[in-house]
Amino acid sequence: MSYLESMIDSLEFNLSLLREQLAGMEHYPELTGTVISKYVRCGRPNCVLCSAGFYHGPNLYYRYYEDGELHDKYLGKKIKDEYIHKSEANKKYREVEKEAKEIEMEIRRLKQQLRKGGTQ
Ligand SMILES: [Zn+2]
Repeated sequence: MSYLESMIDSLEFNLSLLREQLAGMEHYPELTGTVISKYVRCGRPNCVLCSAGFYHGPNLYYRYYEDGELHDKYLGKKIKDEYIHKSEANKKYREVEKEAKEIEMEIRRLKQQLRKGGTQ
């Protein structure tokens, strides 16, 4: 087995491990956004805080894009924990997914090199 072939072999093994890991991970594909916190003006005309230049918060929002538009959905007490949990799980999932994609690309690259008659 050539150097390239054994490289491909070991990368394919790594990839299969990552895919197994992904299959066992929590993932909520319907949730494409992230949880953010921000300070806001409340809009009440007589608010002492806001008129003094302070804002309220930090409040948690779920930030996502829909049809190219940015949306911030306020996360109240009841749904806050669920969104935090799910978006954290998604973040971990996406990191592993990204790693898997990078390995896939590397395998593709090495296979091309192999077909071209790699010199190693
Ligand atoms: Zn205010």
